[in-house]
Amino acid sequence: MAGARSLSEFQTSFPDETSCAAFLFERRWPQGFVCPACGGGRAALLKGRAHTYKCLDCGRQTSITAGTAMHRSKLPLTVWFWAAHLMATHSNGMSAVQLEAQLGITYKTAWLLAQKLRRSMIEITSASRWRAWWRSTRPKFPSGPTTAFSIP
Ligand SMILES: [Zn+2]
Repeated sequence: MAGARSLSEFQTSFPDETSCAAFLFERRWPQGFVCPACGGGRAALLKGRAHTYKCLDCGRQTSITAGTAMHRSKLPLTVWFWAAHLMATHSNGMSAVQLEAQLGITYKTAWLLAQKLRRSMIEITSASRWRAWWRSTRPKFPSGPTTAFSIP
Protein backbone atom coordinates (compact mmCIF):
# COMPACT_ATOMS: atom_id res chain seq x y z
CA MET A 1 0.00 0.00 0.00
CA ALA A 2 1.54 3.24 -1.18
CA GLY A 3 0.24 5.30 1.70
CA ALA A 4 1.79 3.07 4.33
CA ARG A 5 5.14 2.92 2.54
CA SER A 6 5.13 6.66 2.15
CA LEU A 7 4.49 7.11 5.85
CA SER A 8 7.25 4.77 6.91
CA GLU A 9 9.70 6.57 4.63
CA PHE A 10 8.53 9.85 6.03
CA GLN A 11 9.06 8.57 9.55
CA THR A 12 12.54 7.44 8.60
CA SER A 13 13.29 10.97 7.45
CA PHE A 14 11.76 12.57 10.53
CA PRO A 15 12.25 10.06 13.33
CA ASP A 16 12.56 12.54 16.17
CA GLU A 17 12.30 16.12 17.34
CA THR A 18 15.86 16.89 16.28
CA SER A 19 15.29 15.99 12.64
CA CYS A 20 12.04 17.97 12.55
CA ALA A 21 13.72 20.96 14.17
CA ALA A 22 16.58 20.76 11.69
CA PHE A 23 14.08 20.88 8.84
CA LEU A 24 12.38 23.94 10.29
CA PHE A 25 15.71 25.63 10.89
CA GLU A 26 16.69 24.98 7.29
CA ARG A 27 13.37 26.34 6.05
CA ARG A 28 13.73 29.50 8.10
CA TRP A 29 17.43 30.11 7.65
CA PRO A 30 18.65 28.32 4.51
CA GLN A 31 21.91 30.28 4.64
CA GLY A 32 22.36 29.86 8.39
CA PHE A 33 20.92 31.76 11.31
CA VAL A 34 20.00 35.40 10.75
CA CYS A 35 18.67 37.39 13.67
CA PRO A 36 15.32 39.04 12.76
CA ALA A 37 16.12 41.96 15.06
CA CYS A 38 19.72 42.89 14.26
CA GLY A 39 20.71 40.68 11.34
CA GLY A 40 23.42 39.00 13.36
CA GLY A 41 24.51 35.56 12.31
CA ARG A 42 25.54 34.05 15.60
CA ALA A 43 23.06 32.28 17.88
CA ALA A 44 22.88 29.76 20.66
CA LEU A 45 20.17 27.20 21.14
CA LEU A 46 18.40 27.90 24.41
CA LYS A 47 18.27 25.04 26.84
CA GLY A 48 15.17 26.09 28.72
CA ARG A 49 12.87 26.78 25.77
CA ALA A 50 12.18 24.29 23.03
CA HIS A 51 13.48 25.08 19.55
CA THR A 52 14.41 28.65 20.43
CA TYR A 53 17.61 30.42 19.45
CA LYS A 54 19.10 33.42 21.16
CA CYS A 55 21.04 35.97 19.15
CA LEU A 56 24.54 36.34 20.54
CA ASP A 57 24.69 39.95 19.40
CA CYS A 58 21.44 41.49 20.66
CA GLY A 59 19.89 38.75 22.79
CA ARG A 60 16.69 38.47 20.77
CA GLN A 61 15.07 35.03 21.09
CA THR A 62 13.59 33.44 17.98
CA SER A 63 11.67 30.19 17.85
CA ILE A 64 11.99 28.06 14.74
CA THR A 65 8.22 27.49 14.95
CA ALA A 66 7.33 31.20 15.10
CA GLY A 67 4.82 32.04 12.40
CA THR A 68 3.78 28.44 11.89
CA ALA A 69 0.77 26.47 13.06
CA MET A 70 3.09 24.69 15.48
CA HIS A 71 4.02 27.77 17.46
CA ARG A 72 3.34 27.43 21.19
CA SER A 73 1.95 23.96 20.67
CA LYS A 74 2.62 21.39 23.34
CA LEU A 75 2.57 18.59 20.80
CA PRO A 76 5.89 17.14 19.66
CA LEU A 77 7.09 18.34 16.26
CA THR A 78 7.01 14.74 15.06
CA VAL A 79 3.25 14.59 15.60
CA TRP A 80 2.79 17.81 13.62
CA PHE A 81 5.01 16.58 10.81
CA TRP A 82 3.34 13.22 10.57
CA ALA A 83 -0.15 14.67 10.74
CA ALA A 84 0.71 17.19 8.01
CA HIS A 85 2.21 14.44 5.90
CA LEU A 86 -0.80 12.17 6.36
CA MET A 87 -3.21 14.94 5.46
CA ALA A 88 -1.17 15.96 2.45
CA THR A 89 -0.70 12.50 1.00
CA HIS A 90 -4.29 11.36 1.27
CA SER A 91 -6.20 12.79 -1.64
CA ASN A 92 -9.43 12.91 0.32
CA GLY A 93 -7.73 14.38 3.33
CA MET A 94 -7.61 12.80 6.74
CA SER A 95 -10.36 12.87 9.26
CA ALA A 96 -9.65 13.46 12.93
CA VAL A 97 -10.68 9.85 13.57
CA GLN A 98 -8.01 8.62 11.14
CA LEU A 99 -5.36 10.87 12.62
CA GLU A 100 -6.27 9.67 16.08
CA ALA A 101 -5.72 6.06 15.00
CA GLN A 102 -2.56 6.70 12.94
CA LEU A 103 -0.76 8.90 15.43
CA GLY A 104 -1.96 7.43 18.70
CA ILE A 105 -3.26 10.74 20.01
CA THR A 106 -6.61 11.61 21.55
CA TYR A 107 -9.55 12.52 19.35
CA LYS A 108 -9.63 16.04 20.77
CA THR A 109 -5.95 16.57 19.95
CA ALA A 110 -6.41 15.05 16.51
CA TRP A 111 -9.36 17.32 15.81
CA LEU A 112 -7.49 20.47 16.83
CA LEU A 113 -4.47 19.37 14.81
CA ALA A 114 -6.59 18.78 11.71
CA GLN A 115 -8.26 22.18 12.07
CA LYS A 116 -4.96 24.02 12.36
CA LEU A 117 -3.36 22.10 9.53
CA ARG A 118 -6.29 22.67 7.19
CA ARG A 119 -6.24 26.36 7.94
CA SER A 120 -2.55 26.84 7.34
CA MET A 121 -1.65 24.15 4.86
CA ILE A 122 0.42 25.25 1.91
CA GLU A 123 2.02 23.35 -0.92
CA ILE A 124 5.65 23.40 -0.03
CA THR A 125 6.36 21.04 -2.92
CA SER A 126 5.94 24.04 -5.23
CA ALA A 127 8.72 25.97 -3.53
CA SER A 128 11.89 25.50 -5.51
CA ARG A 129 14.11 26.16 -2.53
CA TRP A 130 12.41 23.48 -0.52
CA ARG A 131 12.62 21.00 -3.39
CA ALA A 132 16.30 21.64 -3.79
CA TRP A 133 16.92 21.18 -0.12
CA TRP A 134 14.83 18.07 -0.01
CA ARG A 135 16.61 16.53 -2.98
CA SER A 136 20.02 17.24 -1.55
CA THR A 137 19.29 15.68 1.81
CA ARG A 138 16.69 13.02 1.14
CA PRO A 139 17.49 11.61 -2.29
CA LYS A 140 15.39 8.49 -1.84
CA PHE A 141 12.22 10.14 -0.69
CA PRO A 142 9.66 9.62 -3.48
CA SER A 143 7.66 12.81 -3.18
CA GLY A 144 8.02 15.75 -0.89
CA PRO A 145 5.47 16.01 1.84
CA THR A 146 3.10 18.90 1.86
CA THR A 147 3.35 20.55 5.19
CA ALA A 148 1.85 23.32 7.20
CA PHE A 149 4.97 25.23 7.86
CA SER A 150 4.34 28.54 6.19
CA ILE A 151 6.65 31.25 7.37
CA PRO A 152 5.57 34.82 6.68
ZN1 LIG B 1 20.24 40.00 17.13
